[in-house]
Amino acid sequence: MEYAEYLRQLPKVELHCHVEGTLRPQTVADLARKHDIALPTTDVDRIYDYETIYEFLEIFRLVNSTVIEAGDFARIAYESLEDGVKLGNLKYREMFFNPTLHTTRGVAMSTIIDGLIDGCRAAENDFGVRCRLIADIYRQDPPEMALQMTQEVLANRRDEVIGLGMDAAEAPDPPEKFFESFRVAGEAGLHLTSHSAEDGPPSNISTCLDLLGCERIDHGYHILEDDAVVARCRDDGIHFTCCPTSTAVVYGWPDLTTHPINAMMKAGLLVHLNSDDPTMFRTDIGKEYVDFVGQNEYPPETAKQLVRNGVDASWLDDAEKAELHRAFDDEIAALDKALAG
Ligand SMILES: [Zn+2]
Repeated sequence: MEYAEYLRQLPKVELHCHVEGTLRPQTVADLARKHDIALPTTDVDRIYDYETIYEFLEIFRLVNSTVIEAGDFARIAYESLEDGVKLGNLKYREMFFNPTLHTTRGVAMSTIIDGLIDGCRAAENDFGVRCRLIADIYRQDPPEMALQMTQEVLANRRDEVIGLGMDAAEAPDPPEKFFESFRVAGEAGLHLTSHSAEDGPPSNISTCLDLLGCERIDHGYHILEDDAVVARCRDDGIHFTCCPTSTAVVYGWPDLTTHPINAMMKAGLLVHLNSDDPTMFRTDIGKEYVDFVGQNEYPPETAKQLVRNGVDASWLDDAEKAELHRAFDDEIAALDKALAG
């Protein structure tokens, strides 16, 4: 077996993937036709062509405006998980969704949540992959709107929705602005995470951990600018959900051998790999491992450690994690044999 195929077939957990960034181009075209929404191009393969981050954000919004009914949400969740399974042997995902991206255009919270859960259940049934959901605050929303969203998620509480997160541009809107949402969600028993030190300072990580009560950090690359924060996160065993391809594109780090994830690993931080917005960045969870591990010429031991970190970083309970580790060990043993042969 080729090393690239080995990396693709390693069983995986993914904790940093936004369902709204996973829409297949053909599905966007289908849904646009169904709802009579005009797209800038009729060429399916060019839907995700963009030159700047602003164009990217515009396309992101337009693409998601085609998702309206519960069945549409079910379809995108199902296909997103199917792609994870087929392209990267995905076993378990904690998947972000951005409620206000949809509620602000008139979609009911229950439609979003019920639809996504239907899609997750169908995917589990067909492919054995499990998925839980994390409602994400969109940082450019006012704090009151984020709080209302959080309360609405709690009012529509379903077992599958297990966490609150926060994304979008970090520099203009620091984490402390959203303290109230995190307090309410934490008190209600949701797990907490946040995109942090992605395009903001390392002090944002401290704020997320100490003030907001976050259990892990999404991205976190700018942590390398502060040795004290690095030491603290290493000592406390904080996990980082890193995304090689999307950040290579957005922040201009195309050479994955110099991507900050490497220095984070060297500093002893717990990281694993994720696809973020896979279809928008023309990647998938398998490709993230093939590209990052392959280009850095890391040995199988490193790839396996990244995979195991993903299991440990998840919000499964201890018994579920132990079971997943055992299942991974069995599959990995067979892959190791194939690689050696
Ligand atoms: Zn993200």
